Amino acid sequence: MKQLPIIERAMAHGERIAVCSATGTTTYGDLVAASESAAATLLAGADDLNEARIAYLVPAGEGYIQTQWGIWRAGGIAVPLSTSATEKELEYTLTDSQTSTVIATSELIPRLTSLCKQLDIRLLSVDDVPSTPTARLPEISTERRAMILYTSGTTSKPKGVVTTHACIQAQIESLVDAWRWQQDDRIPLFLPLHHIHGIINIMSCALWSGAQLETFPRFDLDTVLGRVADHAYTVFMAVPTIYVKVIEALEAMPSSECDPIVQGFADMRLMISGSAALPASVHEKWSELTGQKLLERYGMTEIGMALSNPYDGERRPGAVGQPLPGVEIRLQDECGESITNEGVSGEIQVRGPNVFQQYWNRPDATSESFVDGWFRTGDMAVIENDYFRIMGRSSVDIIKSGGYKLSALEIEASLLDHPAITQCAIVGLPDDTWGEAVAAAVVLKHSQALELESLRGWCKDRISPYKIPRKLLVVEELPRNAMGKVTKPAVSQLFNQID
Ligand code: ATP
Ligand code: MG
Repeated sequence: MKQLPIIERAMAHGERIAVCSATGTTTYGDLVAASESAAATLLAGADDLNEARIAYLVPAGEGYIQTQWGIWRAGGIAVPLSTSATEKELEYTLTDSQTSTVIATSELIPRLTSLCKQLDIRLLSVDDVPSTPTARLPEISTERRAMILYTSGTTSKPKGVVTTHACIQAQIESLVDAWRWQQDDRIPLFLPLHHIHGIINIMSCALWSGAQLETFPRFDLDTVLGRVADHAYTVFMAVPTIYVKVIEALEAMPSSECDPIVQGFADMRLMISGSAALPASVHEKWSELTGQKLLERYGMTEIGMALSNPYDGERRPGAVGQPLPGVEIRLQDECGESITNEGVSGEIQVRGPNVFQQYWNRPDATSESFVDGWFRTGDMAVIENDYFRIMGRSSVDIIKSGGYKLSALEIEASLLDHPAITQCAIVGLPDDTWGEAVAAAVVLKHSQALELESLRGWCKDRISPYKIPRKLLVVEELPRNAMGKVTKPAVSQLFNQID
């Protein structure tokens, strides 16, 4: 029988170790066998799940992969749940996806018991699954729908993004090719596994390649740095906030402690940042500390990865490089005309086998987001010296002030050079004179203080007058979602509260 490509490849990797987790090591062959048992349990005598939605609340590790592959092999649509989700968020995802069954580990079952009862959803323990005898599994076409991944909910309520097996395969193959994944690679997996970054870029690319994943339930700085010092990894992928935290930690350490960690980073084959803008200052600091040029890339739940700095060649701070293999990109102005000139900003639109099929149960949102077969990302970018630079989301990061269109990301990158500022978020607030006024919410470095007038004075020599913040709010922490992304509507609300 023809297997799904990811299963076929896992069968070929056989005795190789796929996962190291707190419970030990698991080979590719073990994963294939356990996923077959999971599929048999889910089928419970039926021939095919026929795209029934099966959600799962399972921390990173072999159990997660067995469950996901089991759902796929039984013909279901996999709906990964966030282990940090509140009951309300879980209810939203389960209801929106019309899930029929949830699988969870025994520690996480109590979080779901009353919710599943209330929603009339079958609840299974992942620990019961592997004991089930095998069954005849259906043959699954790659054109079938495979997964509903919810967007991060940075701009509005998370939307369910439906991808087929073929689409997931295209997303994986493009990255395996561009980033030269190989079977000798070893990578830590500490990012959430309900999001494209962890699921596709790390987990699926590693498993496709026969590489080795070391899984952690969450990011724990000391544990991960200890393993880096052991030279446990060849590839490392994280979000910008993690790189910032690591820099702070390394700078606070005595060199005897710091040196082996820095050496571990320096010896890696590849280090990648994504999911949010990597400030140029962080890129430069990282390179000073470790000698590694971080490879920044751009992507989203709906399209997988689309733009990437090169594996060989210049990895430019503040830029996201060029289209990945198999991905077509165009920039469009507001009139729907293609922009070909460098330095002119436009909306990124994407076409290719990597693009999702539809938003789950949102036909209007789906049709609004496509134009002539191109997906409208809602993100603005410019091309400068052949490389794309992301300006931000047109809905929240492009500020219309005094007749100018300003990029919040660009202003944020400048403010991060200020000696007192460690994190910052720029929003546009409604303003009678300017249309929108540039407002900065900042987190200060330890025992620092900052007033608006002194910030404005500092900005004068560095950024154009119309980009200089007119409002300043010092906060302990910026509002962030589970992916660590700053939620701009929540930042605007902070200003409203003080007005
Ligand atoms: P929602 O769609 O629910 O509002 P979201 O857009 O944050 O949430 P994701 O699909 O997780 O959900 O994130 C994709 C977005 O992340 C992109 O559209 C882009 O705005 C941002 N992004 C990803 N990589 C980068 C990058 N390298 N630089 C700047 N922004 C990035
Ligand atoms: Mg989005």
